Amino acid sequence: MKMAKELEVHHHFIDGVPSPSANNATYDLVDPGTGEVAGKAARGDANDVGRAIAAARRAFQDGRWSELGVVRRARILNAFADAIEAALPRLAEVETRYTGRPIREMRAQLSRLPEWYRYFSAVARSSDDIVTPFEGPYHNYVRRIPIGVVAQVTPWNHPLLILAKKLAPALAAGNCVVVKPSELTPVTTLMLAQIAKDAGVPDGVMNVVTGFGPEAGAALSYSKGIDKLDLTGGTETGRAVAQAAGANLIRCSCELGGKAPMLVLPDADLDATAAGAVFAAFIAAGQTCIAGTRILVQEQMVEPFLQRFLPRVRSLRLGLPQALETQLGPLVAGRQLARTEEYVAIALSEGATVACGGKRPGDPKLAGGFYYEPTVLTGVTNDMRVAQDEIFGPVTCVIAYRDEDHAVAIANGIRYGLGASVWTADAAHGMCVAHRLDCGIVWINDHHRIDPSSVWGGFKASGIGHENGHEAYREYTKIQSVVVNLGKPPDWYGTTDVVRLS
Ligand code: NAD
Repeated sequence: MKMAKELEVHHHFIDGVPSPSANNATYDLVDPGTGEVAGKAARGDANDVGRAIAAARRAFQDGRWSELGVVRRARILNAFADAIEAALPRLAEVETRYTGRPIREMRAQLSRLPEWYRYFSAVARSSDDIVTPFEGPYHNYVRRIPIGVVAQVTPWNHPLLILAKKLAPALAAGNCVVVKPSELTPVTTLMLAQIAKDAGVPDGVMNVVTGFGPEAGAALSYSKGIDKLDLTGGTETGRAVAQAAGANLIRCSCELGGKAPMLVLPDADLDATAAGAVFAAFIAAGQTCIAGTRILVQEQMVEPFLQRFLPRVRSLRLGLPQALETQLGPLVAGRQLARTEEYVAIALSEGATVACGGKRPGDPKLAGGFYYEPTVLTGVTNDMRVAQDEIFGPVTCVIAYRDEDHAVAIANGIRYGLGASVWTADAAHGMCVAHRLDCGIVWINDHHRIDPSSVWGGFKASGIGHENGHEAYREYTKIQSVVVNLGKPPDWYGTTDVVRLS
């Protein structure tokens, strides 16, 4: 193991410069592929959060970004997108080091990041303000203006992609931000802040405070200095920060947990569905909010489906995330590995069967990291904890259903409502099924696909608010209605005329 003194320390990014914690505290960053300490980051507290919010407030109030004008802001955001594109190889390498996600996944995912900044600069430029049909000699127009200082709290599973979904609309609309990345994966967010500065985003517009949820995260969420709070994280974290936002009466968006069903209809092409199910369940080692963790198969189709699905799962190449051939990397941290093991034990105690996986790999090269074999549980019923709770590991359940009504009831019979997919040879019928699902996103014959233009947001315990599309841009603005009297100014008390009261 490297000596701690050799390790690079990653400081907060406040007012355009790297900035150590006021009390100089740091903590270790671990490489999940080896279990070794790979770097250090500043351990932020309320003091550091206060400095970052003050910098963002100054930047917002002097108008260096909000009043720059949409054309110049869009030009800078496009330069930012170009600079991200140029930095992609390095960003992918560092994202892989701290998330443990295979480099082939990170390269593919990060290659799409610039699209978010380009898309939202175009949305800002094409956003129309409206003029209303206000009665009388009045001109009434409604302006969209930035909200102010925005807090963005992000998770570790897709650090830069999730940040892009929040940061791009926030900056395009003219806000200033303070980002609190996950304590596990802060480095690429800090790199991004430097890239933004170099591309022309003025100092103080994008600030980053690193550290733990209950410390830096809570200080930011409870601060009276922010005007909007946007979190992606677990449902319990969502409840905590939404309470803070409620207490301060500020806007709040939360993208939270999920337990996505895949409804395999009897007419589905089973080979294509089996391939799609491996992707749905095991990308990012199952650590995605939308992972296909409940595969619903008509009871007579379970065996033929498993015959196609299990060999594909068993053939996944588990390995060091930096190796190009690796298809499944480690979990992000020891706590995630322990949770996965605990849930597989619970599943067994509830009567489920491990059809494959269900243990750590035996390969001695992987002994130090947080690896777990891709696992398929069969004989699962919807009342089992393994079918109801978000595990966030490489574990999926196959649940048998009787008929379509039963499948829809199982799909909806859960507290989450983020996403689902429907697999069928009949897309028109798939749409009818999609409309019966109580969740925010439904794919037909696909899973996980996103686009900056395609609105994203969960129902029920999966969240409030939206990302992507015009909806996200609107959620990063507030509206002001201006009523201009083009006639004679009123003299209510100076006239004896009988006036119309309605
Ligand atoms: P988490 O809730 O533990 O942490 C998310 C962020 O919140 C981190 O930055 C963390 O430091 C911070 N945080 C934690 N406690 C806090 C508190 N009390 N106050 C303020 N901030 C706090 O989640 P995670 O483990 O990083 O990420 C996994 C979770 O995120 C899963 O539940 C997953 O489903 C969810 N997620 C949802 C989406 C979506 O789009 N709906 C996308 C990705 C991940």
